[in-house]
Amino acid sequence: MNMKDWFEINYIKKDLIIIRECLNKIDPRYYTLYSNIYLIIGTKKSLLIDTGSGLFPLKPIIQNFIEDNPLIVINTHSHFDHIGSNYEFDEIFIHKNELDIINKPMDISFLKTSPNKIVSLYERSNFTLSPAKNPKVLEDNTTFNLGNLKVKILNCPGHSEGSISLYTNRGELFTGDNAHYGAMYLPIKKELPSFIQMIRSLVDLCIKENINQIFPSHEDYNLNKKFLNSLIESLNKIDPNWTYKKFDDFNNCWKIDIGKFIFMIKKE
Ligand SMILES: [Zn+2]
Repeated sequence: MNMKDWFEINYIKKDLIIIRECLNKIDPRYYTLYSNIYLIIGTKKSLLIDTGSGLFPLKPIIQNFIEDNPLIVINTHSHFDHIGSNYEFDEIFIHKNELDIINKPMDISFLKTSPNKIVSLYERSNFTLSPAKNPKVLEDNTTFNLGNLKVKILNCPGHSEGSISLYTNRGELFTGDNAHYGAMYLPIKKELPSFIQMIRSLVDLCIKENINQIFPSHEDYNLNKKFLNSLIESLNKIDPNWTYKKFDDFNNCWKIDIGKFIFMIKKE
């Protein structure tokens, strides 16, 4: 495992780049193959969505693409796999409910039982992720003007209290961890109806804003509305399948496999 082949980098379009980390290598107990970091290169400003696990430097890669273009960074939420390289960047935004989390060092000692190579890498920083420098608060409906395109913020609480999604005025939706294939980490069971409602509102947004390209922060990307509909369909099957749940010790939650999803439901 070395820096050179840690990140998988691909052009989705000429001004949208995906930088992927293999979360499965960090810890297979998350049942997640990939974390997706997105870089949008605007004509006036560039936008980085999330900063990954912090295992290897991210800024040099970003710098290569953006050169002198000013950069803003938006965290979709504050979980360790999305904020690890925050400290490398100057302008970070996050929802107000999670500002305090990225404002101080984050203890990631829960990764002390991860694979050896990962443990030896995180040992260098004593299982601590450095805080962001002066992070700023995102408001619902804030618009960022990147020059040739605009990006809007949408509050989507559920996966975490301050989870957000982002959409552009050219038909792209970045869902963060609010919607993706594979292992989805959900709130407690009695909050599932409002989670499903939130996903429905994303479907409505897709119709209203003519969005047909969806970029989640984990697993497959460049999906369409059908993916959100199949997510709703599978979420609705949690309740009738509740007897098949198993308890997952590492994540301290209930686990149910339904279709292309593994639902991890917080313990009450
Ligand atoms: Zn995540």
